[in-house]
Amino acid sequence: MLRTPRYGKKNRQLYNKAIEKKRQKYICPQCKTKKLVRVSYAVWQCKKCGFKMAGGSYTPFTETGEIVLRMLGEL
Ligand SMILES: [Zn+2]
Repeated sequence: MLRTPRYGKKNRQLYNKAIEKKRQKYICPQCKTKKLVRVSYAVWQCKKCGFKMAGGSYTPFTETGEIVLRMLGEL
């Protein structure tokens, strides 16, 4: 969390939102448990089954990524 008067209100809010999303745990697509955590920039790993995947920088699934997956499924 940024708690300074610097960078302007909007930028601080955007930053805080991104950090909040980053720290959240997500559902692993392989074992369906809520153990998916961010290990590195855009790299997500499941703490239960060890499943590793590349995703968004702050969330494992991005809006664009979902559109791409839907397109691939239709093909
Ligand atoms: Zn898993």
